[in-house]
Amino acid sequence: MKKIFVKTYGCQMNVYDSERIIESLSEKGFTQSKEIKDSDVVIFNTCHIREKAAEKLYSDIGRLRKNSKTKKIIVAGCVAQAENTEIIKRMPDVDLVIGPQSYHNIVNLIPKLDKKNKFVETDFPLESKFDILKKRSKQEKKPTAFLTIQEGCDKFCTFCVVPYTRGSEYSRTTREIIEEAKELIDQGIIELTLLGQNVNAYHGDNLNKKTANLADLIYELSKLPDLKRLRYTTNHPNDMNEDLIFAHRDIEILMPYIHLPVQSGSDRMLKLMNRKHSQNSYLDIIEKIRNSREDIAISSDFIVGFPGETDKDFEKTISLINKVNYAQAYSFSYSPRPGTPAADYENQVPKNIKMERLHHLQGLLKEQQINFNKNFLNTTVSILIEREAKDGRLTGKSPHLQSVYFNNEGNKLNIGDFAQVYVDSASVSSLDGSIVENR
Ligand code: SF4
Repeated sequence: MKKIFVKTYGCQMNVYDSERIIESLSEKGFTQSKEIKDSDVVIFNTCHIREKAAEKLYSDIGRLRKNSKTKKIIVAGCVAQAENTEIIKRMPDVDLVIGPQSYHNIVNLIPKLDKKNKFVETDFPLESKFDILKKRSKQEKKPTAFLTIQEGCDKFCTFCVVPYTRGSEYSRTTREIIEEAKELIDQGIIELTLLGQNVNAYHGDNLNKKTANLADLIYELSKLPDLKRLRYTTNHPNDMNEDLIFAHRDIEILMPYIHLPVQSGSDRMLKLMNRKHSQNSYLDIIEKIRNSREDIAISSDFIVGFPGETDKDFEKTISLINKVNYAQAYSFSYSPRPGTPAADYENQVPKNIKMERLHHLQGLLKEQQINFNKNFLNTTVSILIEREAKDGRLTGKSPHLQSVYFNNEGNKLNIGDFAQVYVDSASVSSLDGSIVENR
């Protein structure tokens, strides 16, 4: 039996893609190896969002050293799409370079890889991989799963590679998504996170072949009797329509958490980033969301030190953060991505200034996050148990996507159960407590 080792870089969509690659190979008799040294096939499923992504990949391949001759080496994902034949030129032991729209072909190409024939598949194929991939057969026993419903992006933010590596926006049909959701539910999944680079731009066919938006799809999915929780990520503010905002008020299984990247609070920066929204239009959306569901948790992404950012621009971002009061956020200092317009902007911000601003911004976000978590002290939260933690306690997520840890006294609860946990301590990254009936 052949063994595959998959290294996944980057976002949840890559995690989903890796799962589907592993599922398709397991149907052909492959088993997953936890150690690269024990594997016959090594797949690097890459991400181009991170700084120096290609260099990191080359150094990972280089680390295989003498073993690289005896293993079939595949580079998949967004770096494969962006670097293309360059990968084989620089790393001749790589056998196959395959873009994110073609990974369904890996299973057919593996038998042809013999260190003499090299393959590069980075065209955007006419047929959708989703029409070709077989049924879901999840390898891991977990109560939660990702489900990709949309891919690609037409927004062309000037710092981002996604429109080039994943192509233009594509939405799967509601029928296809419901079928996949049912397959996952049959395997014990009770929480689904719908994924897309621009998930709230979803515009697939509904069951009557008319265009559905994300709210329509969520209403359909909420009818599945054994589905207990729904989430979605990631969003663009301009696609946050009223239907979706009201869905958070009306659909019980839709969790009270929205990731709504803003990137900057300065309209000048937002224009240079080609974000097509302003600080005010973003704040209007936040207000509508909170009017619709008061307890909602808002998270975001920030880029600090985008080319041309002045102290004044940065202060506007700080002021926006103070106005919104985030439950969680991801923040990065700007670094150029080859091939994007902003990489050629002249007025790059010096590194020390970027770091200073990032430090300030992260301090504020951390303070907001801990305050948000402290709101849950001495309350009971409903936790979907996902796994056993390293210290032997159980852990899972709250409706607001906080990690919660607690002792399973009496061993009454299992992974996949819901636990009612009384919270007695809160930190920036988690909540701790005990099961209500044990108190
Ligand atoms: S909307 Fe998101 S995925 Fe699309 S270009 Fe902008 S940052 Fe990239």
